[in-house]
Amino acid sequence: MTPGRPVPPPLAKPLPGTPPLRDASQTAPPALPRLAAAFGATASGSGLVPLTVARRAPKDDDVEIAIEFCGLCHSDVHATRGEWGSPKYPLVPGHEIVGRVSRVGAAVDDFAPGDVVGVGCLVDSCRECESCLDGLEQYCENGMTGTYGATDARNGDAITQGGYATSVVVDRRYVLRVPGNLDPAAVAPLLCAGITTYSPLRHFGLEAGDVVGVVGLGGLGHMAVKLAKAMGAGVIVFTTSESKVAAAKELGADGVVLSRDEAAMAAAGRTIDVIIDTVAAPHDLNPYFRTLRRDGALFQLGLPSGLMPPVNPGALIRRRIAYAGSLIGGIAETQEMLDFCAEHNVVSDVEVVGADQLNEAYDRMVAGDVKYRFVLDTSTLGTPSEKADA
Ligand code: NAP
Ligand code: ZN
Ligand code: ZN
Repeated sequence: MTPGRPVPPPLAKPLPGTPPLRDASQTAPPALPRLAAAFGATASGSGLVPLTVARRAPKDDDVEIAIEFCGLCHSDVHATRGEWGSPKYPLVPGHEIVGRVSRVGAAVDDFAPGDVVGVGCLVDSCRECESCLDGLEQYCENGMTGTYGATDARNGDAITQGGYATSVVVDRRYVLRVPGNLDPAAVAPLLCAGITTYSPLRHFGLEAGDVVGVVGLGGLGHMAVKLAKAMGAGVIVFTTSESKVAAAKELGADGVVLSRDEAAMAAAGRTIDVIIDTVAAPHDLNPYFRTLRRDGALFQLGLPSGLMPPVNPGALIRRRIAYAGSLIGGIAETQEMLDFCAEHNVVSDVEVVGADQLNEAYDRMVAGDVKYRFVLDTSTLGTPSEKADA
C-alpha cells in the first residue's frame, strides 16, 4: 500500500474472524469477504424472513455487485416452499439480479466499479463439456451452478445464495452487461423471464409473420408476448384470467383466448406455429396441441410440482408436432437478448416492492395476480447482522 494513501472504507462489514488475505506481493489492500443483508426462507413453511449472508472476497476473476433490484420469479416460490424437493435451508432466492459493480478481482478487465450489470440463473458451469463449449452452459453436462441453492464446486462447495440481498460475488464469465438505455428495475426480469422465452423462440427459428401462442400471462408469458412481437410475429395469448384479456391486447397481443372456453379453444385450431407454455401448475396440453399447425412446436417452460395429465400421441403425430422443453439460456444468448431488448426498447412491466411485501407478493403470484413481475428494491433490505446465517 502506498504510504499516506487512505484506505477506502468497506461497503459492508467484513466477516468477523476472517484471516487477512494479505499477500507479500500485493500493493492494494487485501480483499475481504463481506456480509450482505438478505431475505430468504429458513424452512418450507417459514415464508421469507431477514437473513445475513456471507459473500466471498472477490477472487482474481470475480466481480462484486452491489445489487439494486432483483425480480421475483415463480421458480423462487417453488424453490423456497420446497415444491421441487427439499432444498438446503436457509435459502436466499433471486436470479434476476441487476446492480452496480463495487469491486473486481485482479484479472477482471471487462468490468469496472460503477458498471451496471446483471446476473441470471447460473453463476458457474464446468466450462469444459460439449454444452459449455457450445455456449449452452445451462445444459452443462456436469450440472450448472444455479444462482441459489446450488453447490459451488469452485468455491469450497458452499451453497449459493441468490439476489434478494444487498450484494453478490460472481465470476466475470457469468456477469451480463446491462444496456444503458434500459431502466434497471425493468431490466431485472429479463435475466430469467426474458431469456427463458427468448431462447426457445430463437431455437424454433421464429420468423416475422409466424404466429406465437403464449399460454399463461405472468412474468414469463408477458415477456414472450413482447419478445415475439419485437421479432415480428403475431401473438395469441391463452389465459385463465378474464381480467387479463384487455391487458394482453395492451401488451401487443393480436388475439386472446380464454383457455377454459372450449368453443374458443376449438376456434383457435390450426392457427399457431409455436407455443410458449409458461403455466406454473399441472394442466392438460392436448387442447393446445390442437391449435398448432403442421410442424408446429410446443415448448413447455413451466415446471409444476405435480404431474401433468398424459399427452395424447395422436395429437402430435397427425401434424408432426414437437413437444419440447427449454431451460433459461446460455450466457452469450442472454447478452444477445439484452442487446436485442435495448435495440427494440423491450423491458418488463414491473411492480417494485419492498422487503416487507415479499410474502404478500408470493401469494399474489400464486393467485395469478401480477402484472407482470414483482421486483424487489434491495435498498429496503436493511443492514446485515454481526453474524452470517448462510
Ligand atoms: P407467474 O408469473 O406466476 O405466471 C404463471 C402464469 O400461469 C399465471 O400468471 C397464470 O396466467 C398461469 N396459470 C394458469 N393456471 C395456473 C395455476 N393453476 N397456477 C399458477 N399459474 C397458473 O410465473 P413465471 O415466473 O412466469 O413462471 C412460470 C413457470 O415457469 C414456473 O413454473 C417457473 O418455475 C417456470 N420457469 C421455468 C424456467 C425455465 O427455464 N424453463 C425459467 C423460469 C421459470 P393466466 O392468469 O394468464 O392464466
Ligand atoms: Zn426464474
Ligand atoms: Zn459443462
